[in-house]
Amino acid sequence: MPELPEVETTKTSLLPLIHQKVVSVQVRESRLRWAIPEDITRLEGQRLIQLTRRSKYILAEFEQDTMLWHLGMSGSFQLSEADIELRKHDHLIIQFEDIQLRYHDPRRFGCILWLDQNSQRKLIDTLGPEPLSDAFDAAYLANKLKSKNVGIKVAIMDNHVVVGVGNIYATESLFNLGIHPAQPASSLNMQQIEKLVLEIKRILKQAIDLGGSTLRDYRNAMGENGYFQQTLLAYGRAGEMCVNCETTLENLKLGQRASVFCPQCQALQHSKTTVKVTKSVQGKTK
Ligand SMILES: [Zn+2]
Repeated sequence: MPELPEVETTKTSLLPLIHQKVVSVQVRESRLRWAIPEDITRLEGQRLIQLTRRSKYILAEFEQDTMLWHLGMSGSFQLSEADIELRKHDHLIIQFEDIQLRYHDPRRFGCILWLDQNSQRKLIDTLGPEPLSDAFDAAYLANKLKSKNVGIKVAIMDNHVVVGVGNIYATESLFNLGIHPAQPASSLNMQQIEKLVLEIKRILKQAIDLGGSTLRDYRNAMGENGYFQQTLLAYGRAGEMCVNCETTLENLKLGQRASVFCPQCQALQHSKTTVKVTKSVQGKTK
């Protein structure tokens, strides 16, 4: 699934489109998570003014209208010459003056929507702060965690707390800090929270610098793979040896998500609250 760093990388790779005018729009399959709006051809004749990212949404601001693009589970954008053959699952083609933008999405969980009051309220206004912004600091996170009766991993993956901390980044941050993923969120001390904020920022920046995590089908719009995945120490390594202590990494199901951790380096600290966890499951995680 494309995570925040992949979306940031995608946005950056689409920057050559800025100032270009849309020549034509062709919808080949409108049934995404929500249908592509029928009046998307309104873009024809409009120049792209700006591309920004909020959480995992790309906001594409045209002269008259702004669109909200989300890659869902398997979406990707490609910049392509018009004469290159279309692939199956290329659902939307926006022909700009110099180049074509193609939206490709085999599982069709992505979305291509107008940014209007409705989508703003439903999808954007409910989001927590950006992890790389100053608004996400230790004081903010401490305040959010103090009433949370869930494991720390579930808490930092909650989009209302902070956006864009996907399973990979949560798993790696907690591993690097030696914090058990099921440690009750409200039991972390201020020093741990400060370190956690810094570690989340560090790991996301690293992933962005390396071009995203390349989960099988992720490529940026230029067709290049990311390298971040090669740096992972815990995520996807259940059953392998911990790089620090050679204990076998375990996999715990937390909030429906696989959570790989080292039972030695990330021991559960005693606290008044406990969090319900499912028994460790063996085997590889996705
Ligand atoms: Zn270990």
